[in-house]
Amino acid sequence: GELVVAIDGPSGSGKTSVSRAVAQRLGLQFLDTGAMYRALTWYCLDSGIDLTAATAAADEKLASDVVEAAVELPLTMHLDPEHETVEIDGQDITAAIREPRISGAVSAVATNTAARAVLVERQRRLIEQTGRRVVAEGRDITTVVAPDATARILLTASPEARMGRRGDQLGGTHSDATLHRLVVERDAKDSTVVDFMTAADGVTTVDSTELDFEQTVDAVIDV
Ligand code: C5P
Repeated sequence: GELVVAIDGPSGSGKTSVSRAVAQRLGLQFLDTGAMYRALTWYCLDSGIDLTAATAAADEKLASDVVEAAVELPLTMHLDPEHETVEIDGQDITAAIREPRISGAVSAVATNTAARAVLVERQRRLIEQTGRRVVAEGRDITTVVAPDATARILLTASPEARMGRRGDQLGGTHSDATLHRLVVERDAKDSTVVDFMTAADGVTTVDSTELDFEQTVDAVIDV
């Protein structure tokens, strides 16, 4: 039967790896919506759109260029949690969208409300295409993309825990100041557009600060 699991949360909460493991355990597909914002960012940069343009006039042109790119985005998402891939025009960009040049530019795309609306529609179509058997994760899945999901979860952790996990992921060589910028400041910037720091009505909070990976997966499955 139908089983849509919606998971939101800030960066470093373990959202992506926990969601993938939950999908594997429950035999569901896996939709990483952050990967779609990253893919759009990759496509904008590849198309020569300057995401750092700063003047007001340039901003307006920039905003409409980004929306146009969102509409034409030749994106294919493979939702198998065993080997999910992201393709643009047949080119595999699964690894490329994790590069710092993408992470550093993605906010310019994610704060564009018209571009978001285009991606949200695509995300809803992808969920339908799975036969509504999917774990979908991001920042606005419980509230905007799939408020009708079977289970809605906000995965949180303390700022210290999130900085620590992101630091480990990046190889343990980054200073606290850098991790603060990558985790806490990026979330503060991103959450001005969608609030993913507080649970909406009917959304269950799972706080992973004191849990290890397997315990977090279990806690999500319990919900
Ligand atoms: O989770 P991840 O770091 O891959 O997300 C990349 C970017 O896309 C983040 O800046 C995040 O705010 C944004 N995003 C979003 N809405 C989503 C998923 C991600 O705005 N549903």
